[in-house]
Amino acid sequence: MQDSIIVILKPDAGPRGIDEVRAAAKREGLDVKVFGAAGAAKIVILGGSGGLRDTLASLPSAERVLLTSRPYALVTREYRDRPTVADFGPGLAIGRGFTVIAGPCAVESRGMIDEIAAFLASLGIRFIRGGAFKARTSPYDFQGLGEKGLEYIRLAADRHGLKVVTEVLGAEEVRAVTDMADILQVGARNAQNFRLLALLGAAAKPVLLKRGFTSTIDELLQAAEYVMLNGGDVVILCERGIRTFETATRNTLDIAAVPVLKELSHQPVFVDPSHAAGRREWVPSLACAALAAGADGVMVEIHPEPERALSDGPQSLDFRAFEVLLARLRAIDAAMASPTPRGS
Ligand code: PEP
Ligand code: MN
Repeated sequence: MQDSIIVILKPDAGPRGIDEVRAAAKREGLDVKVFGAAGAAKIVILGGSGGLRDTLASLPSAERVLLTSRPYALVTREYRDRPTVADFGPGLAIGRGFTVIAGPCAVESRGMIDEIAAFLASLGIRFIRGGAFKARTSPYDFQGLGEKGLEYIRLAADRHGLKVVTEVLGAEEVRAVTDMADILQVGARNAQNFRLLALLGAAAKPVLLKRGFTSTIDELLQAAEYVMLNGGDVVILCERGIRTFETATRNTLDIAAVPVLKELSHQPVFVDPSHAAGRREWVPSLACAALAAGADGVMVEIHPEPERALSDGPQSLDFRAFEVLLARLRAIDAAMASPTPRGS
C-alpha cells in the first residue's frame, strides 16, 4: 500500500485548520479526506512524503502528523504508546488489570437478566453482557427482544451497579443502543460493516469489536481504524475464534492473536472463549489460556439454566461452573502478578 499521512488537528483548530492542511496537500497535487468535525478532525492524505509530513507538522493547528505505510495508524502503538483504558469512574475500567464480562447470549426476560445481574454483582463482576438484537444464522431462531431487551438489561444493571455490553446489529439501532449501553458490541458478522463501524465511531462510547470468522488480524485492525478515524477512542479488540478446517470446536480460538494484537495495538484485547469453544466443557480452558496469553479480559456466556437457553445454551456456563472458573482466573491472575520466585 502507498504511504499515507494522517493529521490530527488540535481541538481549537477550527475550519481554518482544515483549510490549511487542504492547501498544503493541494500544492503537492494530493486530495484530503476529512473525518469528524472541526475541533476533533482527523485528516487523511493518500500519498505524501516525509517533506509534506514535516510541512504539515509545522502548522500551528496540527497536533500530530503520522506518515504510515500500514493500512491503519490510529490503532497502533506509534499513535499512542500507552495502553488505552476505558474508564467508567472510580475503580472501574477496562484495560487496567484483567476484567471479566459475563452474561447470557440473549436477554430472554426481565426476571432472567435481573437474576444474572444479581449473581454477577455478588461475585464482584461489574460488566454484564446480553444481546437484545441477535444475529442468528437461521431466520427461524430467536432474534432477541429488541428494545425491550435493552430496557431490561439496563434496569438490571442499574439495580446491581453494573455496566452494560450489548450488540448493535444495524445502523437503525445505533441510537437506541448508544442510549442504553455502556459498551457497544459489534458482532463477528458485522466485523467488516464499515458504515456501521463509522457510525459507532461517532457515538462516543467504547466499542467491543469481535473479529470476523474470516478476518485476518490485519483486517480486524483496519476495522478498528474505521471506528477511531470517525471519532472513537476505545475499541476493545475481541478474538472469538475463526473458521478453519477444524470442526471439533465451533471455531478455532486463535490464541496467538492476543500477543500479536497487544504488540501492534494500544487498544485492550479480549477473548470470547464461549463462541470459540461452542461447548461449555471447553470454555474454562480457553478462558484461562486467554489470561495467561496476556489478554485484558474475557467475555463469557452464562445462563441460570443453560439447557433452556433460547440461544447458545450448549456453550453457556451455569452459575456454579462460572464461579469455579472465576476462582481459577483469580488464582492465575494473582500468580501472574507475583514476581517469579528465585531459583525457579
Ligand atoms: C454474541 O456475543 O452473542 C455473538 C453473537 O458473538 P459473535 O458475533 O462473536 O458470533
Ligand atoms: Mn452467543
